[in-house]
Amino acid sequence: MRNKPVYKRVVLKLSGEALQGRQAHGIDASILDSLAEQIAEIRRMGVEVAVVLGGGNIFRGQSGTTRYKIERAVGDYMGMLATVINGLAFQDALEKKDVATRVMTAIEMHQIAEPYIRRRAIRHLEQGRVIIFVAGTGNPYFTTDTAAALRAMEINADAILKATKVDGVYSDDPMKNKKAKKFASLKYMDVLNKKLKVMDATAVSLCMDNYLPIVVFDQTKSGNIKKIILGEKIGTVVN
Ligand code: UDP
Repeated sequence: MRNKPVYKRVVLKLSGEALQGRQAHGIDASILDSLAEQIAEIRRMGVEVAVVLGGGNIFRGQSGTTRYKIERAVGDYMGMLATVINGLAFQDALEKKDVATRVMTAIEMHQIAEPYIRRRAIRHLEQGRVIIFVAGTGNPYFTTDTAAALRAMEINADAILKATKVDGVYSDDPMKNKKAKKFASLKYMDVLNKKLKVMDATAVSLCMDNYLPIVVFDQTKSGNIKKIILGEKIGTVVN
């Protein structure tokens, strides 16, 4: 393994599920701590990091629509607010590790986070601050995966690291089908045509159009983020 980072600037996409661990919902403090430590580690290596947080551990627009009979757009705004809760918790966890952070939100709420301004975001990264992007894209009918793709493009990131609960992309659900095959790499078009569960189609096509690699990896294994940064071939690379 090399000891020099192969990526200088990355966007790490953490789903809300990634934060809830084994709990049915909410935030698992030990997971938060472990993820914060892994980010602190790659910061010490000089890597510029932006984190995009999901909100599914608290609220998803679509399930709100069906379960609580809330209008979709309203549910989506509730989902975006959920990502802000996760963002504040994550900021606190990173600051406990002496990592300088800024929470930037796509929906203005001055008392708790900075508004997202592209040039300011880039400046934070250059200053070594970890950015936590919250409130998704600020628009209903989108996902935080798409927010991650969009922000990655805007800040000229080298890759999106997409955290999941499995160690890459499989031909079928590996939890249900023992014959499911893991891909070491995939083309964007394959992901779209085969409807493989990497990120939603909007996010994948945005990455495809702008040649942004997506590295899908198992976030439950501590140390994986550092390995990817050092160029170790783990998970699945979509490019
Ligand atoms: N959301 C949205 N627009 C965005 C990003 C998110 O409306 O740009 C809403 C949507 O309702 C979504 C919820 O926020 O279900 C939480 O985000 P997501 O489902 O992407 O979180 P994850 O699955 O990563 O936890």
